[in-house]
Amino acid sequence: MSKTLNLLNLSPVEFINILNSNGISRFYFVYDKKRKCVVSSHKLLKPFADFLNSDKRDFNFHEGLFFKVSQKYKTILGAFVHRTNRGQAAGGVRYWDYRTMEEYLRDGLRLAKGMTHKNALAGLWWGGGKGVMTRNPDIDKNDPGVRAEIYKQYGEFITSLRGCYVTAEDVGTNVYDMSNIFSTTRFTTCISPNLGGSGNPSIPTARGVVAGMKAALKFSSGSTLRGKIIAVQGMGNVGGPLIKFLFQEKVKKIIACDISSDVIDKVKKDCKGENLEAYLINRTDDSIFMVDCDIISPCATGAMINPDTIPHIKAKIICGAANNQLEDSKRDGKELHKRKIIYIPDFLTNRMGIVNCSNEQYGYVNDDPFIERHLLLNWKHSIYQTTIKVLKESKNKNVPTAEVAVRLAEKLSKENHPVFGHRGQQIIDSLIADKWYEQD
Ligand code: NAD
Repeated sequence: MSKTLNLLNLSPVEFINILNSNGISRFYFVYDKKRKCVVSSHKLLKPFADFLNSDKRDFNFHEGLFFKVSQKYKTILGAFVHRTNRGQAAGGVRYWDYRTMEEYLRDGLRLAKGMTHKNALAGLWWGGGKGVMTRNPDIDKNDPGVRAEIYKQYGEFITSLRGCYVTAEDVGTNVYDMSNIFSTTRFTTCISPNLGGSGNPSIPTARGVVAGMKAALKFSSGSTLRGKIIAVQGMGNVGGPLIKFLFQEKVKKIIACDISSDVIDKVKKDCKGENLEAYLINRTDDSIFMVDCDIISPCATGAMINPDTIPHIKAKIICGAANNQLEDSKRDGKELHKRKIIYIPDFLTNRMGIVNCSNEQYGYVNDDPFIERHLLLNWKHSIYQTTIKVLKESKNKNVPTAEVAVRLAEKLSKENHPVFGHRGQQIIDSLIADKWYEQD
């Protein structure tokens, strides 16, 4: 037990030092369906497998977690594969500071499961996974040379996993990093258009948020966006275009805030002549949640909806792009439900980021129907239809929307790919059979 606590409490760099002194470069934890438990590649790492086996919060029978150490930069390169029934596990790679190994593992587990839900609800034939790399505080994270090397190594690592995980862009990773990943693996999306990729997904994401808002209004009051007052937190890549689209829908007024005056100035310029009230705030200011409005749209960072903000929310609908808007999904979802505030789950309404790159292997057509159908009012899996379905069930069964959406996503995520079946699991089995951890 004390050994478990010790390993989990180590910083990633401290942990890497232990791996190095034991000659470990690659390692994994996989769920063994026959033995019904997580097994580790190395005996030394059994305490992590024990931690996963006993965890009730974030571990959810993830099929496989794979890691490699970048020796030069003391960075852990990780791929968290949650579920691959619908296809290869897909989700972006995060490059972030983690204080402890537990923080790192929990973040990867949670994010990978979230991608399973997002991809399944979107009707994509993709499973769910996430890449997570630890940031060594002793290296300059902005040094382009260092980044190039780390991301190329990440691509090589992904290649070694034979396609059970397909990576993409996420927090801490940029378009140049994606080009470096692409130089060493074919198992990636979200690459730049000059390399045949789909480019910036923010505009489709903003359109997806509008579709979610329309469904919520239709369901709750039979109304439309016309004449409504909307509050937007964060006016960046998604928030900025969202504001423009909302004015096109003839909203009465938009109240918006950001922590950057440059961002505010840009949006104000783009929306000249419109009824936009935009103000600069500091990072801890959550006054936007107290605004008298019809819809509040969080488009900045996560965990903004919590016991501090919920009691002050005047809007009847929350619908935005930010990931993980609820600080605690169960607790805050229940409280919003109790207060009769309609919460549109983020992984439902912000799906266009992943949808936008899901056609990369299949080529491009104008106004791609494969993408556009997600924004239609009548396609079975569209954001609008899925939102209506979730709201109906939430009302009929008197359960929070997030809970309904997760249940729906869980069911869909267990459907096997129509052509390849549960191939991701087969790939993982092959990696284990071939002693992947020894091949370096
Ligand atoms: P962005 O960085 O371009 O914009 C976020 C904006 O929020 C920035 O302008 C920032 O200054 C501002 N901000 C940060 N903290 C704030 C605070 N406390 N109050 C007010 N403003 C604050 O990011 P983005 O691409 O627009 O994404 C917004 C959110 O949507 C993120 O949570 C992102 O993970 C999520 N998301 C984005 C996409 C996409 O396609 N870009 C897809 C899915 C999910």
